[in-house]
Amino acid sequence: MSATLAIVNANILDASPDLSGPHHITIEDGVITGVLPVNGSAPKADVVIDADGRTTTAGLIDTHVHLAFDGTADTWWEIDPRPDTLAMRCYHHSLENLIRGITTVRDLGAPGFAPMAVRDAIRDLGLLGPRIQTCGRAVTSTGGHQWNVSFEGNGPVGVRTAVREVIKQGADCIKLFATGFPLVEPEGYDGYQMQPDEMAAAIDEAHERKRKVAVHACNEKSVRAAVEAGADGIEHGLDLTDDTLALMAEKKVAFAATLACVATFTGCNHREPEGFNDLTKGSYSLIRRAFDIGVPLVCGSDSGASPPGTLAWELEAMSGAGLSDEVVLASATSVAAEALGLEDRGALRAGLLGDVVVWKDSFYGDPHQIVIGGRAL
Ligand SMILES: [Zn+2]
Repeated sequence: MSATLAIVNANILDASPDLSGPHHITIEDGVITGVLPVNGSAPKADVVIDADGRTTTAGLIDTHVHLAFDGTADTWWEIDPRPDTLAMRCYHHSLENLIRGITTVRDLGAPGFAPMAVRDAIRDLGLLGPRIQTCGRAVTSTGGHQWNVSFEGNGPVGVRTAVREVIKQGADCIKLFATGFPLVEPEGYDGYQMQPDEMAAAIDEAHERKRKVAVHACNEKSVRAAVEAGADGIEHGLDLTDDTLALMAEKKVAFAATLACVATFTGCNHREPEGFNDLTKGSYSLIRRAFDIGVPLVCGSDSGASPPGTLAWELEAMSGAGLSDEVVLASATSVAAEALGLEDRGALRAGLLGDVVVWKDSFYGDPHQIVIGGRAL
């Protein structure tokens, strides 16, 4: 017997404006079957949720989280490495995302392979939780960024082997650490931690195995090399020329500027622009230039570096940088889904997954009702 759910009187906000406005949404067996104008009769279903005119969007996608971590800096070094404990931490943090309307997360680096176990338990055993895409352990160079929680590989052969290893463990995607990060490495973040030939080998191997590659890179030359080597996404960026942004736009390389993370990590509050340091100001102006040049923008909170479930911080930061609500919403729905290769979600349309959020007020705030796979929380 098929399970049906309807969300009636929803005020849809969608990245494609022709879908926006008052609608009823019907979901059957976890998949959206209809998005209907409200002038007809209200649909019947096993479960009916009256959105009462509230803003309703597709479930949000956070393209950059670390489920293993909780936002306290010392856990990066002192985290309990036992796999079972780690899995429970990841599961707990996955729920911190779901309850805020984030129905898909991409995990970009953990000390072990626990996010995969959590992903599988949610997907295959019906455990309540968000949909998870994960790289498992990131790939870094010896002593490179977050070497203590990543898989170290060196030289084209070494990084190729590292990519094969994490895929063997069940990685959906690959994360490369190509540079340092502000306040982490004493030598700064302006050099290569991963050489262009290493990035090229890792990306080639990942693509041969049909995995997309997100590259953490915080300087112009490393981003340029990553993009030329075929990277699918750039995390952080920090300081890029218009020329490199134009290449990203041309090659449709997704950009997660992680504005709130840059602000928080360097001692600023993303809600207090008057106190921004130069680095944070630089990131804000970078994302505006990236938008003007046509780079696909995705919303990545880097939560784990900040507390779990804080995608809203990044949504607010992107809005604060001057991007429109439509662009901000798209960065956490349709554009994010496309960037992650998830064609089954990211919009409210028949045939897509029944992941829907009715918001109390707006998608920057708290959810009123969350539906994932046609299941109401
Ligand atoms: Zn990160």
